[in-house]
Amino acid sequence: MGKRRREISRASDHDHPRPTSSSRDLSQRPLSINPQKKSLPSLPRRIRARIAPFTLPFFEDGLGFECTECGKCCRVSGDVWLSPEEVAGVSALLNITAKAFREQHVRAVLSPSDAIEDEEYGGSWMCLKKKQHDGSCTFLKESGQCAIYSARPVQCETYPFWPSILNSMETWEDEAVVQDNTPLRSGERYWNADEGGCEGIIAPSASSTSENNADVRIVERQTIVAKMKAARKQWRRFPADEIKETSWFL
Ligand code: SF4
Ligand code: SF4
Repeated sequence: MGKRRREISRASDHDHPRPTSSSRDLSQRPLSINPQKKSLPSLPRRIRARIAPFTLPFFEDGLGFECTECGKCCRVSGDVWLSPEEVAGVSALLNITAKAFREQHVRAVLSPSDAIEDEEYGGSWMCLKKKQHDGSCTFLKESGQCAIYSARPVQCETYPFWPSILNSMETWEDEAVVQDNTPLRSGERYWNADEGGCEGIIAPSASSTSENNADVRIVERQTIVAKMKAARKQWRRFPADEIKETSWFL
């Protein structure tokens, strides 16, 4: 993935569940390109996320984003969950059974009450292991690439276009981090494992002042909405409400 593969944080399994928002002072942030388009702070966050595509078109003209393949989103605190279908897909890619996948790559299993389990864990959602020395995903290669890229989970594939991040211009800009060793301007930050963040996000305020503005890659609204819907659909299917409540999604 990128991101944060993020990663659903499970309080019982992880000492440092990924925060859903940054504690940074947003008043220090640069102005967005369209400050008239504001979020709806009076509505509950979950409701705002669901109606965001229809009422918060701050990304109507697309968003500046280009993955740098830094791999930081595969090293954040939090969990990556695979649906039963994704478990089957990755197992097939690796040419191993779901049972072997569970034994080699998984640290937690969730079995929905209505799932028909067999000895190969069919019907279960699975949470990927992490490397012990740095907490990164075990599928993250030294090169920064994903070893199961063609079958990577929806959670990974849709980052950073998650409903929680696309909730408003503020939450989008809040997800942006600057590359290591780049001088920080007011309101900017570096990546860290607890707060996460994506250095591929080009904040509108930054792109509007960039000398290389013409080179900024724009992801179109249609693509953004498609990824956001895929992330939402996955989240709705997730079988454990207590984990949903602390998830990567809302
Ligand atoms: S599965 Fe791939 S994209 Fe997802 S966290 Fe692991 S290395 Fe990153
Ligand atoms: S640029 Fe963003 S999406 Fe790409 S690897 Fe880095 S953190 Fe992940």
